[in-house]
Amino acid sequence: MKYLIIGTIISLVVAFIFVRLRPYLQLIRKVVTALNSSTQVTTAPRERSPSKNKLVRCDGCGTWVPADRVFQLKAGMATYCSRECMTKNVESREQKLVG
Ligand SMILES: [Zn+2]
Repeated sequence: MKYLIIGTIISLVVAFIFVRLRPYLQLIRKVVTALNSSTQVTTAPRERSPSKNKLVRCDGCGTWVPADRVFQLKAGMATYCSRECMTKNVESREQKLVG
C-alpha cells in the first residue's frame, strides 16, 4: 500500500513537471525546427542556383553573364553578354576571315 501511494505521488510529480516543462520543450522544438529550416533555406538556393542562374562566359569580352540574360548566336554555341559584344565579335571574326 505504501509503495502504491509513493508511486502515484511520483507519477503525479512527473506529470506536473512534464506539464510545466511542456511549453519549454515546445519552445526548444520550435527553435530546433527554426534552426533546421534556416539552414535549409541558406543551403537550398545554392543547390538550386547553378541550374537556374547559370553563369555563361562571354566569348567577346570574357565576363560572366547569367544564362538567361545571355546573347547567343543561332549558328554556333558562342554566347555574349550584350548585342554590342556579339556584333563586335562577329565583325572581328569576319575581318579575320577576310584578312
Ligand atoms: Zn561581352
